Amino acid sequence: MKLIIHRGAHQVGGNCVELSHMDSTILLDVGLPLDSRFDDDPKLNLPQPLFDEIRQGIKKINGVLLSHAHMDHYGLAGMLPPDIPIYSGPASADLMELTSKINPHNMRPFTPSLFNDRDTFRIGSFSITPYLVDHSAFDAYGFLISAGGKNLFYTGDFRAHGRKMAIFDKLINDLPKLNVLVMEGTMIGPRSDEISLTEEELEEKFVQLIQETSGIVMVSASSQNIDRLVTLFKATMRSERLFIIDFYTAEVLESLGKYANIPQASWARIRVCYPGPLARRFEKLGLKNILEKYLQDGINWRKLREIEDKVVMLIRPGFLFNIKKFFGLQGTTWVYSMWPGYFKTDKRLNELRTYFEGKEVRMEYLHTGGHATKEDLVKMADTINPSMLIPVHSFHSERFQDDFNNVRLVKDGEVLQID
Ligand SMILES: [Zn+2]
Repeated sequence: MKLIIHRGAHQVGGNCVELSHMDSTILLDVGLPLDSRFDDDPKLNLPQPLFDEIRQGIKKINGVLLSHAHMDHYGLAGMLPPDIPIYSGPASADLMELTSKINPHNMRPFTPSLFNDRDTFRIGSFSITPYLVDHSAFDAYGFLISAGGKNLFYTGDFRAHGRKMAIFDKLINDLPKLNVLVMEGTMIGPRSDEISLTEEELEEKFVQLIQETSGIVMVSASSQNIDRLVTLFKATMRSERLFIIDFYTAEVLESLGKYANIPQASWARIRVCYPGPLARRFEKLGLKNILEKYLQDGINWRKLREIEDKVVMLIRPGFLFNIKKFFGLQGTTWVYSMWPGYFKTDKRLNELRTYFEGKEVRMEYLHTGGHATKEDLVKMADTINPSMLIPVHSFHSERFQDDFNNVRLVKDGEVLQID
């Protein structure tokens, strides 16, 4: 087996790993770099020379495995020639389809072939078994890949402190003897000391914050971070408030509702709001049907204002227009529950913060990351004891040598023969 990390050997995001054996070649993830901007020309972000070689027919790809529906793992899949088969988990395929409707890049849409947890399938001379992992993305997988008598496991992104934490121990004990472990290391280096709360611990903190708040509780969290939405819903129920989501979040929850028992717009203690600019954007994109779907579960802004002190509301910077127009914000708490790095690049997020500062809104940060702590990474490596450990998805790959055995550092583009 031959391995090339085209991107991700020394950075978080933009993962793209090539494996080849005999006449078969597969790719693991084709992600956008994290520092790329949404309106960038995607061509500028392609891992090269890989894409040129594919286009010129120098390299033939038999299949592309997408680990999960985060842009830094799948964002360039639509730039591949359409005859290359793409594979993903079923819920990830639904999430990617929904995202592509709302944020149409100049990339072609694609329809992946679907795989299921622990159902082995073949691509050319590779045997592939997906393993569901705990991550902030719903339906995330690592892949056990076997060829020529060698076993390699690619972790994708994972953690052991989310709502699916129990599958971490099962995973590390179920995997066979590995020749190679390609392991993500987002938290290696300066972030090693960060405390990673479990979602349950986070829920307790939310309950406390809601109870301390006399007015509305506004929370900024990703509509696709289902673990977090469940945490918020549970904390809201325990505080006997209504949970207010927007129609896009309602659509995400509905499309994933067939895979898990997760909160739905139709539930008694949930209401759906319609932020003006977001509604106009959906209408412009021809997605009026999504707006109309949740009208019977809707709540209007005047009613929301009347019951400000009885709700927990999921918000995004784009809601500022309606927040300014309708809310008094007395006794309000705003909880930021996402990666703090967005403050560096997101102008509208900073506008929202400035507005809240002006209104003397209490601001809190309550978040836990999607990536395994150093302790959990060490536990995984110690349990599996691979012959070779290759770091990926890390800004500090060289630091793996401090805490792990059999580390093999590679550079982006370096060809590594696995014997
Ligand atoms: Zn991810």
